[in-house]
Amino acid sequence: MSSCRQWLPATGQHCGEAARFYLTGWRCPGHTPAAQAGRAEPEPGPGYTPQRLPTSQAASALVDARAVASGKRRSTPQTYRLARVATGRGPENTTSSTSTRRTS
Ligand SMILES: [Zn+2]
Repeated sequence: MSSCRQWLPATGQHCGEAARFYLTGWRCPGHTPAAQAGRAEPEPGPGYTPQRLPTSQAASALVDARAVASGKRRSTPQTYRLARVATGRGPENTTSSTSTRRTS
């Protein structure tokens, strides 16, 4: 546990209260960036857990899988089967594929 590094011109010294580390440095609850900006502290909770926030990459991957599985998006047969499994539709044998077309 460190102490608040907020400089207090009135006393000519640092605050010195028990502090947590913020982007701006060590700050006690009275000198957090939010407090100095006149805002309430952000609520801690699951909503702020980075791991629970869907990334744009994961979201687009799911959309891609759905598009491939529904046949709206062209893909290789292997990708198609994987997408079918990933989206819970199950593997399906299909004869319509652009990559397996035979030229006889
Ligand atoms: Zn302080």
